[in-house]
Amino acid sequence: MPEGDTVYRTAAKLREALAGKTLTGCDVRVPKFATVDLTGCVVDEVLSRGKHLFIRVGDASIHSHLKMDGAWLIDGQLRRVQAHKIRIILEAGDTRAAGVDLGVLEILERAHDMDVVAHLGPDLLDDEWEPRIAAANLSADPDRPLAETLLDQRVMAGVGNVYANELCFVMGHLPTAPVSDVKDPLRMVQRARDMLWLNRSRINRTTTGDTRPGRDLWVYGRAGRECRRCGATIESDQSGDRVSFWCPVDQT
Ligand SMILES: [Zn+2]
Repeated sequence: MPEGDTVYRTAAKLREALAGKTLTGCDVRVPKFATVDLTGCVVDEVLSRGKHLFIRVGDASIHSHLKMDGAWLIDGQLRRVQAHKIRIILEAGDTRAAGVDLGVLEILERAHDMDVVAHLGPDLLDDEWEPRIAAANLSADPDRPLAETLLDQRVMAGVGNVYANELCFVMGHLPTAPVSDVKDPLRMVQRARDMLWLNRSRINRTTTGDTRPGRDLWVYGRAGRECRRCGATIESDQSGDRVSFWCPVDQT
């Protein structure tokens, strides 16, 4: 599942491909917006807010959310895509960008496009990231399980399931531990910021500092394998809506 850093990189890629260019083609394949045609309008900016992406074109703003399997692909990346998965195609001269399998695609009025992200907590990848607000949000409901709270985009925006599990490991807490176990919420949200920030321009995400395949994560996806820190067997649980992973020794 795409996390905040993936969306941030996607925005950078689209910005490089489209910003400042006039659209020469616009094909929206979502029934509600099928008649929208932004051909002739200039792409002014592309921005991400948490896991939401906005392409501002003229008076409109193309809002998308990648959800589970969505992606924006450009030029050569489009060759192998099945046509029925495409939700929107934007063309600017020789450049083509397509939104594929997007969980959300809507065309908003640019003047009000930020209304759809008004509920989000501080964006972990915002230059003006607000850690104190995020820390207060994190500890607002003391009995709530930690991983679930980290995943709540109203607490802070950008953490997906990979980071939620990795953060619980580096802070030494079980994913199911109550938030009240976190003695220094400010430190925890700063770790979250650091993790996403370090990965925002990387294709190979790492939380361990090692980008080599198989060494990049502490616990996520490593059920049954040895903990890199203590050698205990990593455990996992798939019974909730999301799978979780933890070291039974390092996390309490
Ligand atoms: Zn361990």
